[in-house]
Amino acid sequence: MKNFKKEKTLIIIKPDGIQRSLIGEIIKRYERSGLKLIALKMLVPDKNLTQKHYLIDPQWKQKTGQNTINAYRSHNETPPFSDPTKMGNFILDKLVKYFTCSPVIVMAWQGMHAVEIVRKITGGTEPKSSDMGTIRGDFTIDSYAIADTDKRAVRNLVHASGSPEEAEAEIKLWFKPSEILNYRLLNEEILYDVNLDGILE
Ligand code: ATP
Ligand code: MG
Repeated sequence: MKNFKKEKTLIIIKPDGIQRSLIGEIIKRYERSGLKLIALKMLVPDKNLTQKHYLIDPQWKQKTGQNTINAYRSHNETPPFSDPTKMGNFILDKLVKYFTCSPVIVMAWQGMHAVEIVRKITGGTEPKSSDMGTIRGDFTIDSYAIADTDKRAVRNLVHASGSPEEAEAEIKLWFKPSEILNYRLLNEEILYDVNLDGILE
């Protein structure tokens, strides 16, 4: 727990977040949590970068493939593939199409419980069922049923790392070390200072 204030997470505002003019709205939600923004850039990802991003977790293809097969079956449709890895490849292709259609904004945020707090603010993967008060629940409307029928990726505005280990690998993929900024944010006094003896004059 020694470095708990330094936990990092990666957030991507996906093409629909940019094209829906939600950049400020989305960043505001993360910023007001108290976490610290330590890196930010705008770019158009290519196929290679998108594939590398999703394949950081060696289980991703199999896991997402299986979840997608289950999603098809739960709305009484036949999945295009019954093999999870093939289905994972299929979804990855759709994600490449989604990620490469527009600029995205990539950010690294830091602070205690950064990964969990950001996942909470972001909401569940499927906008139709993600909670109100979350970014995906409040600002968009997509569902697995429609995405799967249309054979495309779910459009859910943002990506957020799933674990601190995933975050570390993702940050390495999207940023050079020199792009990660080390600085003091005055907010951190009231969030982390144990003695609170630097405020009153
Ligand atoms: P992200 O990794 O983008 O933050 P997540 O961790 O909530 O999202 P994952 O299970 O990692 O969700 O899936 C990655 C992405 O793959 C989702 O954001 C979505 O765009 C797409 N996806 C996942 N499952 C499906 C599905 N059943 N149908 C269509 N697209 C899907
Ligand atoms: Mg994920």
